[in-house]
Amino acid sequence: MQTRESLQQQFETRCRALGLAVTHQRTVIYGELIATGEHPTPEAVYERVKAQIPAISLGTVYKNVKTFLDAGLLKEVSLHHGTLRLDANTEPHHHMVCTRCRRIFDIPETEFGPVHLKNLPESGFQIDRFSIEVVGVCGACAAARPESSGPGASAADNKRVL
Ligand SMILES: [Zn+2]
Ligand SMILES: [Zn+2]
Repeated sequence: MQTRESLQQQFETRCRALGLAVTHQRTVIYGELIATGEHPTPEAVYERVKAQIPAISLGTVYKNVKTFLDAGLLKEVSLHHGTLRLDANTEPHHHMVCTRCRRIFDIPETEFGPVHLKNLPESGFQIDRFSIEVVGVCGACAAARPESSGPGASAADNKRVL
């Protein structure tokens, strides 16, 4: 797992290599992205950055996010979530998605064994990478609003309800 310091350092090195000026704005925007670890939307990043740079506009945040995406400093979480969710972790990894709060958590690639596909449904498909999405309810949401049956409900209780 990359530490925040190493990411920040990598950010500055990559910016220099790409000829991008390491401005205060960019440093704050990137800093907030790696601080949340929550795969935020650009709007959520803007809200956090505004606390540090009140004069910044949403347009400026969008523009810098686009620059970071083009430079490979950020990734989009997935292509099918409807909204753009940003990922500062550019190492290969998988995701756990909470269906209640929509937070997205990282799962290190090493937590899964190698994925083998016996047969590809579509022949000729060239695989770039595997991306596993674990969908469920995060610990905080489960504790805040338990299912009506309750976390301690047994299988027998569930059967009676049905
Ligand atoms: Zn949640
Ligand atoms: Zn991620």
